[in-house]
Formats: sequence, structure tokens, C-alpha cells
Amino acid sequence: MTEVPAGSAGSAGYASAPADELLLLGPGPSPVSARVRAAQAAPLLGHLDPEFLAVLERVQAGLRSVFGTANPFTLPIAGTGTAGMECLVANLVEPGDRVVVGVHGVFGQRFAESARRRGGAVVEVRAEFGAALDPAAFAAAVAAAPTALAAVVHAETSTGVLLDLQPFAAVAHQHGALFAVDCVTSLAGVPVEVDVLGVDAAFAGTQKCLSAPPGLAPVTFGPRALAKAQSLRTPPPFYFDTGLLTGYFGPNRAYHHTAPVTMVAALDAALAEVFAEGLAPRQQRHRGVAAALRAGLPALGCAPLVAAELATPMLTTVCLPAGTDDRALRSRLRRVHGIEVGAGLGPLAGRVVRIGLMGHGARLANVLRVLAAFGEALAHQGRPGDVAAALAAAAAA
Ligand SMILES: *Cc1c(COP(=O)(O)O)cnc(C)c1O
Repeated sequence: MTEVPAGSAGSAGYASAPADELLLLGPGPSPVSARVRAAQAAPLLGHLDPEFLAVLERVQAGLRSVFGTANPFTLPIAGTGTAGMECLVANLVEPGDRVVVGVHGVFGQRFAESARRRGGAVVEVRAEFGAALDPAAFAAAVAAAPTALAAVVHAETSTGVLLDLQPFAAVAHQHGALFAVDCVTSLAGVPVEVDVLGVDAAFAGTQKCLSAPPGLAPVTFGPRALAKAQSLRTPPPFYFDTGLLTGYFGPNRAYHHTAPVTMVAALDAALAEVFAEGLAPRQQRHRGVAAALRAGLPALGCAPLVAAELATPMLTTVCLPAGTDDRALRSRLRRVHGIEVGAGLGPLAGRVVRIGLMGHGARLANVLRVLAAFGEALAHQGRPGDVAAALAAAAAA
């Protein structure tokens, strides 16, 4: 996957925005608050220091809360979201296991590829990029043969489609498969109800709606997933061994690896902000800014790719007017306006940009700023829109 921020080497005769003033409105990392930055600058503690273990305990409790679960095995894996995916796959897939993966974007493809590399017999249930997965097609695939694991991506960051997890969870359970979900982008931005839905295992990342830096992968395993993990014929990598992880993250606090103390401190600060705001108001804020952005786009000659009722609030895929040079557009946003947005991926490359309004970045002021910048950058390419109308529509939404 190539996702190179365009124009980071500014040279066109105007000053580039300095890095400390960049506004991260791409698909992640999202902006972090001053409080989270300060937490990263705090003195190091030992990874077995009682003071740090208290932080770790608070982080694990906070993650249970955002995941909507009482699972004891809920912890931050050291590594980015992809490490969380590998941890799930290493523990829930054995060579020969049948795995059904819903693929409606790049992250579903990666989930499927990871399971294939572990030796899983992977069946992909596909939907067009920009459309939602069909629960009936998924059900048919799961029902066709005994299935060990059924997996989907909650919020597909490559397209901006949000899945209603309920029918997929129901199908998995009906057929005795474990149900696993990629919650990297959805966690803390929309409700993730692991226990209510009966999600057996889920993973996430810190740099999307949690607004901590990239580098940790929150994961949660329920009892059925743990039972599978602990009865594997082919053990997982040492680093992802649930028994050994429990040795450190459980009451024994036995050394397994050196926890990334600074990252955990940053996540602790980010979670404190989530709970100070409240999960529900935070999710409402994400919905509000997405509605504002969508309302402003038409006046600029742009349209969201995904219908509002299917769309992720934290990431909006924007179809560009025909003939727009997307790379030049992103480059200008970066150099002149100091705003990072994401490129289109896979079949959408060149035709769209992806605007993330995640966590600390999900604010009306940022919606207005990106719409104004977009209008200017499109006008620069000879496609002027009505910026004043776009701003008014966004503010009124
Ligand atoms: C960002 C993302 C990932 C990968 O996370 P990394 O932190 O980049 O490893 C996986 N799935 C989804 C849906 C994502 O948005």
C-alpha cells in the first residue's frame, strides 16, 4: 500500500507550513493534544515499577471501557494496529483452518492475507470498494463448510464504509465460528460493543480516534478466543503468546517484553481525555463534524463517495471533480495550507482524497479550515467552487 504524503518537500516559491503547525486530517495519525504530548515527555519509569504498573492497569481498564467489554485479556500490544491484527491471526488461525474474511477495502485484504500466511484456508467475501459487505453473502460463505474464524473490518479506512456488525456476529455464532473484528479506526469514534455483540476478538490502534501517537495496538480476547489460543497445535510467535502476555498483563507481572512505557503513558493521557469528554459525546462529535464536512462539499463541486447512512463519521472519502490532479491538490494542501489529507487507495487511487476527522482533530474549526483550503486548491487548478457557500453549509449542518 503506498500512502506517501504528497509535497512534503516544498520548493515552489512559497513557504511550506512548519511541521509543528501541520494539521493531520488524513486517515491517521490524527492530531494529539498538548496533554498527550506532555505525557510523552514525562520521565521514564521502569516497566515493572509500581507507578507504571498502576498506569498499565488504568490503561487496561480504559480499553475495556472503550471496547465495551469485561474481558480480562484486554491490553495494548506493542506495535501498530497491524501488530494487533497479527496477534489475532496468530492465535485464532491454525494451518488448515477455514477462515471467512469480509473484504470491502484494503484493510480486509490485509486481514485475509495475514490469515493466508498463517496457513488458513481463506475464503474472501468481497464487495466493491465504497459499498458495504452483504451479510447474506457472508452468511452463505460461513455456512458452506465448518469455519474456524469469521472476520470483518468495522470501519474501512480505505473507503469510509462503516459496517453494522450485528448480522455478521449473528452468522458467525450460528455456525460456531469465532468472530473477529478490525476496530482500528472505529474504536472511540463510534460505539464498539464487544460484549453486547459477542465479538470474540478485536484489535485497534492508537493513532485514529483515540488520538495517541501510533505504536500500540489495543486488543481484546473473549473466553472462546482465549480457549482457542490456548489449545493451538502450532504455537503462535513468542511475542503474541496469550499465556505469556497474561503473565505480564495479568496479576503476576512477570517479565515478557519491556513494555513501551512512553507509549503507554501517552495512551493513558489520551484515554483520560476520552473519559473526561465521555464516550457518547465523543461519538456524537464525530458524527457532527462528518455531517458538516459532507454538507460543505457540494458547493466545491465535490461529493462524498459513500452514502451518509453507510459512511464512517471519522473518515470521509471525497470524489474529486473530473480532471483534478489529486497529487497536486494534496501537495498544495500540505505546503500552502499545512493540512495533510490521505490519497485514494487501490481502485480509488487518483479519483478521491480521504479526509479524516478523528479524535482531537474532529472539530468544526478543522472542517471549515479544510473546506476553505480545498476550495483554494481546486480554484488553483481552474475548478473554482463557492467557498463561502461551502463554509455556510458546513456551519449550518
Ligand atoms: C490504520 C488501520 C490499520 C493498520 O494500522 P497500523 O497502525 O497502520 O498498523 C488496520 N485497519 C484499519 C481499518 C486501519 O484504519
